[in-house]
This record gives sequence, structure tokens and C-alpha cells, in this order.
Amino acid sequence: MPELMPAARTARESIFSVMSRLAAQHGAVNLGQGFPADPPPAFLLEAARGAVGHFDQYSPPAGLPALREALGADLHVNPQDIVVTCGATEALAALALSLYGPGDEVLMLEPVYDVYLPQARLAGATPVTVPMTLDDGGWAVDVNAVQAAVTGRTRALLLNTPHNPTGKVLSAAEQRDLVALARQHDLWIISDEVYDELSFTDEPVGLRSLAPERTFTVGSAGKRLEATGWRVGWVACPAGLAPQVVGVRQLASFCAPTPLQVAGAQALPRARQEGFYAQLREKYRVRKEWMVSGLRALGVTVHEPQGTYFLTAQHPAWDALSLVREGVAVIPGEAFYDQHDCPPGLFRVAFCKSQEDLEEALARLSRLA
Ligand code: PMP
Ligand code: GLN
Repeated sequence: MPELMPAARTARESIFSVMSRLAAQHGAVNLGQGFPADPPPAFLLEAARGAVGHFDQYSPPAGLPALREALGADLHVNPQDIVVTCGATEALAALALSLYGPGDEVLMLEPVYDVYLPQARLAGATPVTVPMTLDDGGWAVDVNAVQAAVTGRTRALLLNTPHNPTGKVLSAAEQRDLVALARQHDLWIISDEVYDELSFTDEPVGLRSLAPERTFTVGSAGKRLEATGWRVGWVACPAGLAPQVVGVRQLASFCAPTPLQVAGAQALPRARQEGFYAQLREKYRVRKEWMVSGLRALGVTVHEPQGTYFLTAQHPAWDALSLVREGVAVIPGEAFYDQHDCPPGLFRVAFCKSQEDLEEALARLSRLA
């Protein structure tokens, strides 16, 4: 038999799938994989029920025109510059294949979201990570270290704000400095902003407004509307570049699910008009505060997040594999590190779970503290 290619031979089950599997096996409360316990809003479900049976065939690879229009209005972007994808994951994969290749380096920050490294490698490029710093003030970006990592081969800066797993929101100054650096070295910017509506700070989210000529902004209806299984995402491209990205992404999935795009086109404007995102933020702000103080009361060092529905924490005696056996699944910090050392005892907690689950998890953890 011929051999499989290295990408397939070295592929591993994602840490999120691993921890969900272990959680089920051990009857653990699953604070690992980041999917919400609450159902999507009724107006999204109604829209989808109305679409299935009526819009069931292929749609254009760039996305359903009505959804591109809705996203254009929401993001203040020309609809022609938007490409709808099967989740943000496909958007990131299409950008990796579109923006870099063999001989190129891609800069990203560690801790790093799991797909960024293998996607860069699948494109033939070399991912280079710069560690975020961590002190009493929380997570920060050392822009000088990013600058020092730029070489003649660097093609792109892959950023994520609000950031998974840390919940860090890039400050306006960090954004300005990173954009200046990208301009100075003529780099593309990929800005993964899937948690754009989940920032608890006043810092602006949206690197595109600072450098529209070079920024690709990635978003996700799954994250915004609590429907991670629907697989509808998007990328807002610099003017004129969407057709090329469409040319690449059509080879993987051709189009995103048509009825769910119809539902998204109806639901995204309603979510904005009816204050859904403000409610979402408030819901998760309350759960965050509750979880942060609950963990701190157990002696855990918690790095309070500024956004997302994740937090990072450290405990010298806990590791994710022991915790899941004790009935609480989290994601080990090491899963987000590749080229630098993970801070000791780091783990990620997803608090997009029910209040009962959060309480049960804290009760189980209190027996170990
Ligand atoms: N980027 C980040 C930072 C994420 O956390 C996630 C999912 N949790 C994704 C991309 C993928 O989003 P989607 O489910 O829309 O593919
Ligand atoms: N992004 C989600 C998380 O960080 C998981 C995504 C996935 O399982 N593919 O937990």
C-alpha cells in the first residue's frame, strides 16, 4: 500500500474532542470544549425551520447574497468583500492556503488556538510563535518580541482578539503597534474575531478598521448565535480580494449550508436590533465573575478574561487528566503551546455552561483543593 502523507500520518484527534470524549467516559462536568449549554435564540431557530424545505440546493461559493448583505451592514464592509464559509475554521484554512506557502513564515501568539499551526503547515508555511507575557496584570503582547520575530520570510501576522484561550482583548495601543509593524514589513493580517461580540471591556475590537488594505477578519455565526454546530462563518477581505479566496474555499466545501445561511441572513440583523449581543455579554459576564471568584476561593490563580467564554487558571497540583477522572473536564494549557513553555499548571475553563454545571464543577473541585 502507498504511504499516507505526513499531514495525515501526524494528524491527532483535537484536544477538544479528546476532552469531550474523556468527559463522557468519566461522567465529568464538561468545562473543556467551548460550546454553549444554552440553545440558540428562538428567532434563529424559527428562521431555520422556515428555510429548510425551501432553500435546499447549492448556493454561490461566495455566500448567499442576502447573508453577504446582512454581514456587510453589520460589519460596515462592502458585501462584495465578504466570503461565507463553513465556520471560521474553513475561513482560516482558506486564508492559510491563499496567503502563504512554502518558504513563508507566519507569526502568531502563544498560547495559540489549535488549528493555526497545522493549517499553516498544510499550506507548506512555517508557523513561528511569540509567547504572550503573563504577570499579575494578566496576559499581554510584547510587541517588541513580535517585531524581533519578523524575518525576510514573514508573510502574515495571525491574531485573535478576544483571544482563545486567555480571553485577552488586544488593547488599542497593542492593535496600533501590531498594525504599524505589519505595515512596516508589508505583512498580511489575519484577525480572528469570532468572539467579537463577547468583549467585557471598552477596547475596540476590529483590526480591519486600522488597516483595511491588508486585514482579513474572520467571524462565526456559531459563536455569535450560540449554534456552533451550524458551521456558518465568514471572512471580510481587503477590497477586491474576495474572488480569489472564494476560488480556494470552493474546493473544500463549495458552499456553506444554504438553509442555515438563509436563517443567518434573517437572524443577524435581528440579533443586533433586538439587543441579543448585549444580553449574551451580560450573561457571560455574570458567569465569568461567578467562576472567577469560585475558583479563587479554592486557592486557584485565575487570570481574569476580558472577553470570550474562557478563562485560564493555574494550580500547581492539578492537571487536566487527573481532573477529568475526578469529574471535571478542562483543557490542559499545554494544548495551546508548541514552541515555548506553558506556564506551570495552566488550564482553560469554558464557562459557557449551565449554572448547575458550573456549581457542580466547583463542588467537585473543592474536594481536591
Ligand atoms: N477561532 C477561534 C479563536 C475559536 O475559538 C474557534 C472555535 N471555538 C474558531 C476559530 C472556530 O470557529 P467555528 O466553529 O466557526 O469554525
Ligand atoms: N473552538 C472551540 C474551543 O476552543 C472548540 C472547537 C472545536 O472543537 N473544533 O473549545
